[in-house]
Amino acid sequence: MSRTVYLDHNATTPIAPEVIDAMQPFFSDHWGNPSSLYGMGNQAKRAVDQARRSVAAFVGASDPSEIIFTSSGTEGNNLALRGTVKALPGPMRLLSSSVEHSAVLEPLGALAEEGLRWDQVPVHPAGTINSTVFEEILAEAEERVLASFMWANNETGIVFPVRMLAEAVKEAGGIFHSDAVQAAGKLQIDVQQVPVDLLTISGHKLYAPKGIGALYVRRGTRLDSLMKGGHQERGRRGGTENVPFIVGLGKACELAMKQLEEDALREARLRDRLEQGILAMYDGAVVVGEHAERLPNTSNICFRHMEGEAVLMMLDDQGICVSTGAACESGSIEPSHVLKAMHIETALINGAIRFSVGRYTTEQDIEFLLEKLPAILNRLKALSPRFN
Ligand code: PLP
Repeated sequence: MSRTVYLDHNATTPIAPEVIDAMQPFFSDHWGNPSSLYGMGNQAKRAVDQARRSVAAFVGASDPSEIIFTSSGTEGNNLALRGTVKALPGPMRLLSSSVEHSAVLEPLGALAEEGLRWDQVPVHPAGTINSTVFEEILAEAEERVLASFMWANNETGIVFPVRMLAEAVKEAGGIFHSDAVQAAGKLQIDVQQVPVDLLTISGHKLYAPKGIGALYVRRGTRLDSLMKGGHQERGRRGGTENVPFIVGLGKACELAMKQLEEDALREARLRDRLEQGILAMYDGAVVVGEHAERLPNTSNICFRHMEGEAVLMMLDDQGICVSTGAACESGSIEPSHVLKAMHIETALINGAIRFSVGRYTTEQDIEFLLEKLPAILNRLKALSPRFN
């Protein structure tokens, strides 16, 4: 049987067997509606309440009512941003980094089109935030600031100083949201230590299913709902709860809390072995953000003068799954906005490959990659006029 080596955990994770086991009864036996007043409804409600407590504990929330279940990280980000703008009267100014995920950039762009001013703070070539520009914008803003800065970047794994950013925004009287979709389960998230008002997580980056997420909303934060309907989620998100998936997210958070340190250490070791092997194998390889603080599982490596797409396809032929630093938009390959914002040369960006290991990645997986990659790079070199 052919082997599959999955090295794309930042795209999505498999569902943990413990999560599948926890969800199963809520498909087959306990399928009641949490709003129903009889026993079956109560049973579903108790399961949702338990999951809410687990998610709250996972992010350090003091009260489970600070958690709103959503359909995804994308919904959490949209609810946080648009829900805040709708809830608060008076002028508002939007602030983010230039390397946010599209699930933050697009809603902010839409609000900007509706007339709000939006500033994007640039990053240094190493990928860290330009804090001088951040402080200047904060000092100059006359309007109330709504800031959104990711906890860690999905493409590079670079971690932002969210605590410093959140403290500065709070001191200036603003609202602070963090997209922690990639950080959750890989780094400790504690909203008691970092004064965020709003924080987004997503199940499928955390060994729970796709199509479930949560938004933390600090008590006292004003937020309008986007999904008008029933009274679910205290009126902040109408719609009958997705009980099995909510149970799955709760279980995934419990597992992540238990295993965070062990997973992080193991994944960092595998990631370091991968980097060391590739740097030794290919002269033109550059690790993006090598010296910045990074997620333990992520390595974005640029293969100078290679086509990332070609490397990806040939790895796929060997059963190895990775992603490129470029996205296919309307049929054309667009260099990653994140790597562009870091002022990385085009010859490097075009050859960017993101490797992201996970809970079930083994040493053998990494060795398999390191064994297959040299022949792929040599073959691509032989096909490229640049190397001949
Ligand atoms: N934010 C970040 C940083 C992400 O990496 C992703 C998914 O790739 C999202 C948001 C969107 O999450 P979801 O796929 O659950 O909508």
